[in-house]
Amino acid sequence: MTIRVAIAGARGKMGKEAVHTVMNHAEMELVSVLDYKKVGDTIADTKLFPSNFTAPIYIDLEQLNAETKPDVLVDLTTPEFVYEHTKQALELNIRPVVGTTGFSDEQLEELKALSKESKIGCIIAPNFAIGAVLMMKFAEQAAKYLPDIEIIEMHHDQKLDAPSGTAMKTAHLISQQRPIHEQGHVREKEILEGARGANYDGMRIHSVRLPGLVAHQQVLLGGEGQMLTLRHDSFNRGSFMSGVILSIQTVMEKEELIYGLEHIID
Ligand code: NAP
Repeated sequence: MTIRVAIAGARGKMGKEAVHTVMNHAEMELVSVLDYKKVGDTIADTKLFPSNFTAPIYIDLEQLNAETKPDVLVDLTTPEFVYEHTKQALELNIRPVVGTTGFSDEQLEELKALSKESKIGCIIAPNFAIGAVLMMKFAEQAAKYLPDIEIIEMHHDQKLDAPSGTAMKTAHLISQQRPIHEQGHVREKEILEGARGANYDGMRIHSVRLPGLVAHQQVLLGGEGQMLTLRHDSFNRGSFMSGVILSIQTVMEKEELIYGLEHIID
C-alpha cells in the first residue's frame, strides 16, 4: 500500500530533506504540502526543488485534506504552530508525525487524549536520529547508578526553542530513575544569572547556540572519582530521515499518541 504523505514546513531545513526522502521512497507519495503563505502553486514553484516535484501547496489544512487526502501529516515547522497543526490533523483523521519541538506538558496531554479518543495514531519525536534515541535510553539506564547529571545540548543558532526537545525528553526519561534532588553546593550562588543552566528537578540543562552546529548533546553523569559521558552528534539532517520514514510507516498501525522514537524501536 502506498502511504499518502503531506508535509508542513517543506521549505525549511528539515522539510526540504523530508520532501526528498518521501519523494524517493517507493511506498510513499508526497501528495501535498502545508505552508502559511502563498509561495506558489506547487513546490517546484518555490525554486527549492526540481521541476518534476509537483506536490501542490495549501495554506489551509482542511482544504488540503479535502483535495489531497493524506494518510499522514509530517510537521517540521515551528513551536508556534505545531500544536494547532497536530490538533487539527487529528480532528481531520490525518495521522500526525511530528518532528517540531516545543510542546508544553499540557499540550502533550491534550493531544494524547484526543488521539486516544479518536483512535488516530500520532507520533511526536523530539529527535528522529536513532543514535540520539539510544543516547537517551543509555542515560536513563545510567541515571539509576549515577544520579548527579548535567545535560549540555548544542544546536545551530537559528533554533527557536531552548532547551531543545531532545534535552527535555532526556531529562524526563532520566527523572523516571533519578530521585528529585538538588545538585552542587547548598550555598552555591550564581554571580552571572543563568551560569548554572536551567533546573529540571535539580538536574542542570545548558543550551549552546552557535553557527556551524547541527544537533549535538552530551549527558554528563558524575560520581565519586568518575564521570560517564554520553554524546551524540548529528552532523547533517540526513541523520534524521530514517526515523522520519520509520515513524510514517509505524503511525499507520497505531491508534494512540506515541511520544519518542524509543517506543517504536526494539
Ligand atoms: P526551519 O529551517 O526554520 O524550517 C521551518 C519551516 O517551517 C520554514 O520554512 C517556515 O517558513 C515554515 N513554517 C513556519 N510556520 C509555518 C506554518 N504555520 N505552516 C507551514 N510552514 C511553516 O527549521 P528546521 O531546522 O527545519 O526545524 C523545524 C523544526 O524541527 C524545529 O522545531 C526544530 O527544532 C525541529 N527539528 C526536529 C528534529 C527531530 O529530529 N525531531 C531535528 C531537527 C529539527 P518561514 O521560514 O517562511 O517562516
